[in-house]
Amino acid sequence: MKVPLLDVNAQNLPLEEELTATFTRVLHSGRFIMGPEVEAMEREVAEFVGARHGIGVTSGTDAILLALMALDIGPGDEVLCPTFTFFATAGCIARTGATPVFVDACPVCFNIDVDDAARKVTTKTKAIIPVHLFGQSAEMDAVMALASEHDLRVIEDGAQAIGSRYRGRGCGSIGDFGTFSFFPSKNLGGFGDGGMVVCNDESLAERARILRMHGSQPKYYHREVGGNFRLDPLQAALLRVKMRHYDAYTRARQENAAYYSERLSELEGVVSAVPEHCCCASAQEEALGEAALVLPARYGHNEHIWNQFTLRVRGEGRRDLLRQHLADREIGCEIYYPLTMDQQACFADLPESSRLGNDVAHQLASEVLSIPVYPELTREMQDVVVAAVAEFLAVD
Ligand SMILES: *Cc1c(COP(=O)(O)O)cnc(C)c1O
Repeated sequence: MKVPLLDVNAQNLPLEEELTATFTRVLHSGRFIMGPEVEAMEREVAEFVGARHGIGVTSGTDAILLALMALDIGPGDEVLCPTFTFFATAGCIARTGATPVFVDACPVCFNIDVDDAARKVTTKTKAIIPVHLFGQSAEMDAVMALASEHDLRVIEDGAQAIGSRYRGRGCGSIGDFGTFSFFPSKNLGGFGDGGMVVCNDESLAERARILRMHGSQPKYYHREVGGNFRLDPLQAALLRVKMRHYDAYTRARQENAAYYSERLSELEGVVSAVPEHCCCASAQEEALGEAALVLPARYGHNEHIWNQFTLRVRGEGRRDLLRQHLADREIGCEIYYPLTMDQQACFADLPESSRLGNDVAHQLASEVLSIPVYPELTREMQDVVVAAVAEFLAVD
C-alpha cells in the first residue's frame, strides 16, 4: 500500500461543495482585495490563538518580514534565530539588512536552545525569533525572560504551530508578534500561499497594517516604504471553511502521533526522547543509550499539534538508509531539514560569530526523518509504516 507524506485531496475534497459555494460567493461579491472576508478571517484567527489583532498577509514568510519591518529591525542589528528551522526564518532577517545569529537546538523538542541564545546576545541584539518547530511550542518562559533581560523584541514563528499551546497560552500570542502560514502542507493548509500576523499591541498592529499596504497612510501618501503583503479575500474565505474543521484535524494528528508512539515503542531499539533532558545534549545521549531510533516527545506543559512526526535515526548514514527503505516501499517521508542555517551557502559570508557552535543542530540535521502524520492517514496506513520501520530495524 502506498502511503503519501501528505494527501491534500483527502482533506479538501470532502469539503468540495462548501468550498465551491464559497468561491461562488466571493466571485459574485466582486471584491478581490481586502474587505469583509479578510477581516473576518483576521478576527477568527486572532480569537482562535488568543491575540487581540490579526493581519492577513501573503505568506508565512511575508508575515515574518512584515513583523521585522514593523519592529524597525534593519542594518546594524542582530537577530537571534534557531539554526535548525525552515529557511524563511533566517532569510527574512537577512532581507531587512540585519544579521541573523544562529542558535543551537534542543535535542528533545528540536526548538531553540535558550541558554545558547543567551550566550550569543551582544549589544547589537535587537530581537529573537523562536520557532515552534513541527507543531510544538518553544520554551517561551525562558525566551521571554531573556528578552526582558536584554530588551529584545520577540517574534514567534508559528508557521507550523497555529493553535498549539504553551502552558495554556496560544502559540503566537506571547511575543510582540506571532506569524502563521497557510501553505498547503501546514496544519491549516490553504489553496496556495497565505499567512497571518497576530499581535496584542494596538500601535504595532496599526504599523503592520500600514506597512502591508506600501506604507501608505492615507492612500497614496507614504511616510515610509512598505510592500504589498495582502491576503486575498478568496484565500481568506476558503480558509474560513477549513477553520471550522480545524479542531478535528488537530485531534486526528494527535491520535496518529499517539498511535505511532505506542506501536513504534514496542520495537527493539526504539526509545522516546526524554523531556527531562531538554537542552542537555550529553544527558540526553546517555539516556538514549544504544537506541537506534528516537521517537519525538511532547513536554507535559505543551499542546503539540504534530505538523510533523520526526524520528531521530541514530548511527552514521542510517537515516539515509531508512529513508531509502521507506521510499522503496512507496512510503512518503522527508528530511526536515538536511542543512542547518549556519551551513547554508548564502550565509557563508556572515561573521564567524553568527555561526559558532550549533553541534546539536548539526547532529539533528544528519539524523531526522519525518513520517506521515496528516489527519486523514488511516490506522491501516500507519501499520504499514510501522511494519516497514520494524523490518528496517530487524535486518541488522
Ligand atoms: C513554512 C514555514 C515558513 C514560511 O511560510 P510560507 O507560507 O511558506 O512562506 C516560515 N517558517 C517556518 C518554520 C515554516 O515552516
